Amino acid sequence: MSYVDETLETLAKKYENQPEFLQAVTEVLDSIRPVIEENEAEYKRDALLERLTEPDRQIIFRVPWIDRDGNARVNTGYRVQFNNAIGPYKGGLRLHPSVNISIIKFLGFEQIFKNSLTGLPIGGAKGGSDFDPKGKTDREIMSFCQNFMLELYKYIGADTDVPAGDIGTGAREIGYMFGEYKRIKSLHEGVLTGKGLSYGGSLARTEATGYGLLYLTEEMLKCNGIEVAGKTALVSGSGNVAIYAIEKATQLGIKVLTCSDSTGWVYDPDGIDVATLKQIKEVERKRLTEYKKYRPNSEYHEGRGVWQIKADIALPCATQNELNIDDAKLLVANGCLAVAEGANMPTTADAVKYLQDNGVLLAPAKAANAGGVATSALEMSQNSERLNWTFEEVDSKLKGIMVNIFHNMDDAAKKYGMDKNYVAGANIAGFEKVLNAMTAQGIC
Ligand code: NDP
Repeated sequence: MSYVDETLETLAKKYENQPEFLQAVTEVLDSIRPVIEENEAEYKRDALLERLTEPDRQIIFRVPWIDRDGNARVNTGYRVQFNNAIGPYKGGLRLHPSVNISIIKFLGFEQIFKNSLTGLPIGGAKGGSDFDPKGKTDREIMSFCQNFMLELYKYIGADTDVPAGDIGTGAREIGYMFGEYKRIKSLHEGVLTGKGLSYGGSLARTEATGYGLLYLTEEMLKCNGIEVAGKTALVSGSGNVAIYAIEKATQLGIKVLTCSDSTGWVYDPDGIDVATLKQIKEVERKRLTEYKKYRPNSEYHEGRGVWQIKADIALPCATQNELNIDDAKLLVANGCLAVAEGANMPTTADAVKYLQDNGVLLAPAKAANAGGVATSALEMSQNSERLNWTFEEVDSKLKGIMVNIFHNMDDAAKKYGMDKNYVAGANIAGFEKVLNAMTAQGIC
């Protein structure tokens, strides 16, 4: 049995209760096979894959907080510091009731390769809590965030581990966490990214993941002889990634027909209106049911269903495993040209295969949504320099990084005879740099 298969078999037994983690590891290890096979005996002797798939450390802690009625409540907090071979740990904090160790490990593992692909010196980590911010008052959110940081601060620092936002963690939550860190440590340092502009945040960080997704999509299509202007797109989600993906897509001349949230979805034949979406989601913090009030030509549907609409490009920007094999079949039947993943692991493994087998270009999350973490790293650089760059400066660096990421994964796919398999290309390109650094640093 090959070293990759042996490792996967051991992990499947050891972590049988961690399906998301196993799914992510299987995808990555499967695609780096050709690299491992070049030096299999040496890597096996050095337990390279075991060291790669076991986090450096996993911190799990109690987060007590006080609700609006004065009752104490308790959630579980997580920080998985996966790999710091190429730089300080970096990765977001997810606040969502579905959060568990499997999800945090899958996200932390993916983050290693995503961060490597950006070309910037950042390692991989992820964290969060099963706390549900929905329906909570500002004071409840503040109480949770302060108590979360009261434990997390022990393990992070500007040169150690720099968390950021993710699902449920936006500028408000980062602000409360930063305030608490500063209070405990008396240190105003770049320990978190996604900060407000008045206290060390970077211009264009809010837009970065969505904009970056479109920069990479544009480059991928251009290199395949396809012009994006005049095309139609489907977006799922209506959070940070989705909103700015829709904004940039619209600027590039793409008409976005859909968006969604966890209760329903919108079809707008005239193109999703970003200003309306921002008003509902960023200002009023309401459900998508409101959209039709502003745009009477649109349709609102309960449940899920964006992938049944005919369009040229699909941009899943909500959450993991939201595009399954049935959805993939609908996309192919409707002539979809490309899928670019804004969310982390939004496409199930069988759907990825079906799309690729049917000639749909697929840009995987670790490349396509790396703009967020890349701009976070640019925020870290600005904090270290104690300077603020202009929006245009950050945006143009972001665009350069996304175009580079596309070419790195494209070149890696070609080098190993898997032209246009960007999933394999991204995994290999991200892995090679980490492999180099791990080898140079010895067995640790
Ligand atoms: P937000 O919390 O801002 O938005 C998430 C969106 O997805 C919301 O519209 C939410 O709907 C919807 N959603 C969440 N869970 C589900 C579910 N189980 N079923 C259907 N819809 C769901 O998060 P972000 O936009 O920041 O993140 C979205 C994805 O992008 C995540 O996978 C995240 O890990 C990834 N990502 C984010 C980055 C960033 O910079 N923000 C960077 C890289 C990746 P509702 O409001 O109803 O919950």
